[in-house]
Amino acid sequence: MSKPLTELTVVATERLTPSMVRLRFRADDLSAFAGSAHTDRYVKLVFGDPAELAAGGRPVMRTYTALEPDVEAGTLSIDFVVHGDEGVAGPWAAAAQPGDTITVRGPGGAYAPDPDADWHLLAGDEAALPAIRQALTALPAEAVGHVVIEVADADHEQPLHAPAGIGVTWLHRSAGGGRAALVDAVRSLEWLPGRVHAFVHGEAQAVMHGIRPYLLTERGVPRADASVSGYWRVGRTEESFRQWKADLAAAESANEPTDTSAEEASR
Ligand SMILES: Cc1cc2nc3c(=O)[nH]c(=O)nc-3n(C[C@H](O)[C@H](O)[C@H](O)COP(=O)(O)OP(=O)(O)OC[C@H]3O[C@@H](n4cnc5c(N)ncnc54)[C@H](O)[C@@H]3O)c2cc1C
Repeated sequence: MSKPLTELTVVATERLTPSMVRLRFRADDLSAFAGSAHTDRYVKLVFGDPAELAAGGRPVMRTYTALEPDVEAGTLSIDFVVHGDEGVAGPWAAAAQPGDTITVRGPGGAYAPDPDADWHLLAGDEAALPAIRQALTALPAEAVGHVVIEVADADHEQPLHAPAGIGVTWLHRSAGGGRAALVDAVRSLEWLPGRVHAFVHGEAQAVMHGIRPYLLTERGVPRADASVSGYWRVGRTEESFRQWKADLAAAESANEPTDTSAEEASR
């Protein structure tokens, strides 16, 4: 069954950092979000004509994490990375004003931190930061683990509230490591005893070719305990990134059976 469509109206905009804008939305009917327990719950913003979906077409869509949906109040927020003039969603969010409307499809989602895990590893870049923040709010107070977030520089950090046993590390691309910094930082974290539950998302090359093999192969983390995928890819629009993901999944299934989940491939 196709996912429901919801029309959202912008009610407020807030610049969180030089590269992140938060839009607060209101909807007459947010019932599609009732009972969605995934902290990485995401929606597809429909930039073409939503009627195309009903007709089996695929208008331009972009994927974003839906934050704190309140079904009763009819409110939710989305934090957008503003990454210049290229693209559809980033420039739209940067220019959005109260009263603007957008249709979203969803939500989908696949992860919420497992309270029975011995420790948690959450890592990503700015695009994954909203989902990481949501996950932190769902962790029990006694949770332990590591959070690693890669941003451009210190001006792009944001306040995060994590349980006392969760260490938070901010990495700056400006320090010289670029996008490899996240890979290096995750590899050099202290590996804690017991069962880890991991959530690692962000730029696809770093995540899929840098961090995922480290977790699944070198550390032997079971696939079910690792939510790991690219959220976007340098130099690719979401459409051509989708092809990149499909090619990767095909190459992997030719080598060994399914290392890329159906949920991930369908995003
Ligand atoms: C499940 C999921 C949840 C996501 N949640 C969020 C979220 O909450 N907030 C968020 O900002 N993003 C999120 N993303 C990532 C977002 O979908 C992509 O960044 C998307 O490509 C942005 O669309 P666009 O129209 O702005 O750019 P596109 O038209 O897709 O791309 C145009 C150009 O911009 C570049 N680009 C795209 N994204 C970025 C970026 N983040 N930084 C630098 N350059 C970029 C591309 O490489 C390309 O060269 C999520 C992705 C997934 C799969």
